[in-house]
Amino acid sequence: MIDSHTQIYGIIGYPVRHSFSPQMHNAAFKAAKLNARYLAFEVTPHNLSEAFLGIRALGICGLNITIPHKEAAVSCIDSLDPTAKLIGAVNTVHSKDGKLTGYNTDGRGFIRALKEELRMVPISRRFFILGAGGAARAIGFNLAKEGARKIALYDALRPKAEKLALDLRHNFPNCKVQIVSGLPFPLLEDFDCLINATPCGMKNSDPLIVDPKFFHPGLVVCDLIYNPLRTKLLKAAQAKKLKTMNGLGMLLYQGVISWEIWTGKKAPIGVMKKVLTNIVSR
Ligand code: NAP
Repeated sequence: MIDSHTQIYGIIGYPVRHSFSPQMHNAAFKAAKLNARYLAFEVTPHNLSEAFLGIRALGICGLNITIPHKEAAVSCIDSLDPTAKLIGAVNTVHSKDGKLTGYNTDGRGFIRALKEELRMVPISRRFFILGAGGAARAIGFNLAKEGARKIALYDALRPKAEKLALDLRHNFPNCKVQIVSGLPFPLLEDFDCLINATPCGMKNSDPLIVDPKFFHPGLVVCDLIYNPLRTKLLKAAQAKKLKTMNGLGMLLYQGVISWEIWTGKKAPIGVMKKVLTNIVSR
């Protein structure tokens, strides 16, 4: 029941109406019998700082931040968790004693999915990341933090890959970081895991981002995209009997970690997973 004690959480983004987070978090609040609700707020970039004034004034308890606000939100909060600071972007905000703290649970969510779904731990592994945008930054820093031996970065915009490489080398000197220009995918031979962190594959008309002839036995192929669940990249990898992972696990676990930051309780993962699975299989 909603009453005068109901705590409000939400997601802000632009657009935001496609988000599955309200269903996932509300189901978790209900399962945990918490008097809380999670709403979607469509906020234009122009209104972001005003939105944060409202969040403070109204006592909103926690937020997820999505495209295009993850970087800009950094300047609207009071403090940042160290990994979010390295990434330069937040996807989670927690309000405590009137102060807003920012976190980034995207990379941790990806790694938790990797461990849970594929039983793969990053330590001493070599990762080839396609894309150097927000998601790739979040994943790159968390992989390096967890002891990845080598990370290769390829982005259509080379300066983006260069910036991420610089930041990774500076903060994690033990992790070898390589920038890949053009499409020299024979290099894939030297890697354990390929991660598509570009939007290429969301549309039916998108090309297959890597020619499967460069896949080697034992390569693990991940795509951050969850709609569709099986991108051309994942289908090609499955045809070669490789282990694959789509973006649904990352979506689930970034939400699980956010929920645990807000509530201090263990998230009802099974409930949250069921909600997401039901939505995507509709
Ligand atoms: P982003 O900040 O826009 O970064 C994507 C990067 O990939 C951009 O630098 C882009 O370059 C580059 N790129 C696009 N197409 C490329 C191609 N064919 N080859 C090489 N580079 C290419 O986006 P993001 O926020 O990091 O998100 C990336 C993907 O991850 C999206 O599909 C998003 O939906 C997904 N994602 C999933 C989750 C989850 O929970 N599963 C969470 C976050 C993100 P340009 O700027 O030149 O296009």
